[in-house]
Amino acid sequence: SYRKGGYHAVRVGDQFAGGRYIAQGKLGWGQFSTVWLAYDTQSSNYVALKIQKSASQFAQAALHEIEVLSSIANGDPSNSKCVVRLIDHFKHAGPNGHHHCMVLEFLGDSLLRLIRHSRYKGLELNKVREICKCILIGLDYLHRELCLIHNDLKPENILLYSTIDPAKDPIRSGLTPILQRPEGSLNGGSTMNIIEKKLKRRAKRAVAKISERRASMGGATEKPKKCLDGVDVRCKVVDFGNACWADKQFAEEIQTRQYRAPEVILRSGYSFSVDMWSFACTAFELATGDMMFAPKGGQGFSEDEDHLALMMELLGKMPRKIAVGGARSKDFFDRYGDLKRIRRLKFWPLDRLLVDKYKFSENEAREFAEFLCPLLDFIPEKRPTAQQCLQHPWLNLRTSAQIEMKKGDIEKLHVGMSNLQLKVGK
Ligand code: ADP
Ligand code: MG
Repeated sequence: SYRKGGYHAVRVGDQFAGGRYIAQGKLGWGQFSTVWLAYDTQSSNYVALKIQKSASQFAQAALHEIEVLSSIANGDPSNSKCVVRLIDHFKHAGPNGHHHCMVLEFLGDSLLRLIRHSRYKGLELNKVREICKCILIGLDYLHRELCLIHNDLKPENILLYSTIDPAKDPIRSGLTPILQRPEGSLNGGSTMNIIEKKLKRRAKRAVAKISERRASMGGATEKPKKCLDGVDVRCKVVDFGNACWADKQFAEEIQTRQYRAPEVILRSGYSFSVDMWSFACTAFELATGDMMFAPKGGQGFSEDEDHLALMMELLGKMPRKIAVGGARSKDFFDRYGDLKRIRRLKFWPLDRLLVDKYKFSENEAREFAEFLCPLLDFIPEKRPTAQQCLQHPWLNLRTSAQIEMKKGDIEKLHVGMSNLQLKVGK
């Protein structure tokens, strides 16, 4: 992909936007872009530099993403709505063409890596609650204030961030900027070689430190689940490459397969509530470590049909009106609203699944299912909005362990109080 029209090759120390940004190390990549940690010499901050492939379809997609990100930034001057912030954008000329570049605030590992490092066992429910709150604040902002549908919500597109600012606290964050290109000059004078070697070592160290820092934010660590102990988990929604305004939809097939809402499969039209469906799938995955739906095509049935069958096995039969109401309904359902090719469904309701397979207590399973099930209503209009969901009592529940601790604290407080009263002499 590093050819004409493709990715732009970057080396540590490369400069962008007339020298304002200096590449420090690679953070990640997607289908359309590579993302680099860069040092912003103007603001003395670290930023994420998303460099798009150069071919015209990628350039167009970048312009759309920049438009969406700009309206997100304009509507949230205090940067408190749990959505990634666009800082700057520009075009960069390279050997493979002209690349649109987006300068974004620097965030940490994705929730997908967090799930991986729980060894796919899922996170503690209190962490899931904190993460869910952040996502819902982001969705409520996008939906209600901007009329934007994200269209690709999933653990990979939600990034953690720490409140330690690496520019202000480089020692704790483990980052120091590299301001020169390590493999600089080609003439091999002896002093030059030493400087180059030093710079190379420094670049290596810096990249190692980035991974270390990312690990402390929930990434590669030997002790899963403990990595976030005592840390206030915060995260932000990213990747607006597929987002659209509700009244200007351009794609029929949206969302990543496993997080796709039934109305998208059936081609019944969609709105904000597709994000709520994906949100519920994401919350389930955070809590259990497993995808809620992982459909596969088989003998005599397609991946879409398997997906619809899995949905019904977990959530009950789809109302006939919904099943037969989409432009593609006839591909899957007969006129009674039964699947044509998958005739026998094995129903396993969500609360039972949580107890039987994931060993939730009866209470935890009931409470979590009561939170998730309305979001997975087959009738899209019945799903709660992000705003309504934020009011759900499940988000403010505490696990019994914490309640026990609170009780202990109160007892200690009582002892302290009586000691105090003794001292005062009353
Ligand atoms: P694409 O649209 O090509 O999928 P994304 O916006 O999803 O690109 O970014 C690709 C990857 O780059 C992400 O999965 C993540 O690992 C990393 N990344 C993106 N934005 C940031 C950011 N602001 N801070 C840190 N890493 C980021
Ligand atoms: Mg992505």
